[in-house]
Amino acid sequence: MRFDTRLVQVGQDPEPGSGDVVPALHLAATYDRTVQDPPRYFYARGENPTRDDLQRSLAALEGARFATVYASGQAAAMTALSLLRPGQRLLCGDDIYGGTYQLLQLLERYGIRVSFADLTDPAVLNRLDGGGDGGADVAMVWVESPSNPLLKVVDLAEIAERTHRIGALLVVDNTLASPALQQPLQWGADVTVYSTTKSIAGHLDVLGGALVYDDPELHEQFLAYRTTTGNMAGALDCFLVHRGLKTLGLRMARQVDNAQRMVEALRDEPSVVRTHYPGLATHPGHALAKRQMAGGGALFSFEYRHDPEKLMSRVRHFTSAVSLGGVRSLIECPALMTHRPIPREERLARGISDNLIRVSPGIEDPADLVADLIAAVRAGDR
Ligand SMILES: *Cc1c(COP(=O)(O)O)cnc(C)c1O
Repeated sequence: MRFDTRLVQVGQDPEPGSGDVVPALHLAATYDRTVQDPPRYFYARGENPTRDDLQRSLAALEGARFATVYASGQAAAMTALSLLRPGQRLLCGDDIYGGTYQLLQLLERYGIRVSFADLTDPAVLNRLDGGGDGGADVAMVWVESPSNPLLKVVDLAEIAERTHRIGALLVVDNTLASPALQQPLQWGADVTVYSTTKSIAGHLDVLGGALVYDDPELHEQFLAYRTTTGNMAGALDCFLVHRGLKTLGLRMARQVDNAQRMVEALRDEPSVVRTHYPGLATHPGHALAKRQMAGGGALFSFEYRHDPEKLMSRVRHFTSAVSLGGVRSLIECPALMTHRPIPREERLARGISDNLIRVSPGIEDPADLVADLIAAVRAGDR
């Protein structure tokens, strides 16, 4: 079964008895053991049929054995990070989601060390498995590709090989690409992390997170952590994520096309200093993106010569809000919004300037979006 067919049909078997053609919404907190044959459901913090349906779909989309879903992307990430023990080190890409940065700060409390590095830099990769102390205590490597907000592209196959050579686990936050454009397990990742809040649910109306992986031992550990801490996704949230998921292929195709058109229009504007989008041939990660992704992605950013706040107030078809991947176009300034938790000097050192603007195209008509954005950008010159 091909991807778009799996989107609509896996985990969506008609309900025995009623014949419901969509997964039923099971709200019960507990289950009667005596009517189950064999007993499968015990208590909804541990297991729930609506959650199972969504998990079956998400695993199938990447051809993986397992998926587990959580209350949010952060809850999913924390569950993956729970594998780390005191004294171990996490090596993390230096261009990551602001919330991930905050989550990693918590780890230091538990005696886990975190270092950041540009994982697109060959020298950094050479140090990782070069036999020096670069990778000695590294137990996990955390990658976001394409990254947020600079859209750097990391070579997933290469980093997987090097990570495994030192006996560490590779975790890839694939929220930006979604499984429609990139499947990290296929390139050797051990765990894919999603904020399903973004493209997977796609309608900006629910929060959720997921981990996707093949290893049964990881599955046991993740389930135990989730059931114990209670960070699982509730049934109604699972239902909404699953409903949104079915149109992922259609939405991503339109959003990638909208991104490409806007970037191409912006690139010739005198008040646009630089654009960041892997779909452009001039982007340093373009060739790599072509190899490991199906399309340039549905997010882009650019450096603007004028005041970002004024630009955000001038656009009419873009909502000035955080989040991404939804049907409605959003615009934001990372320095003021998503990446505000990162201290300014550190943020600037990572290339996230005060004038960077990030755009998450929705599924609106491309002509409306391009005309509106270009008019707002030009007005800054006056
Ligand atoms: C939004 C996001 C997260 C966090 O997800 P929540 O659902 O908001 O908790 C993690 N990683 C990336 C890349 C994101 O965009």
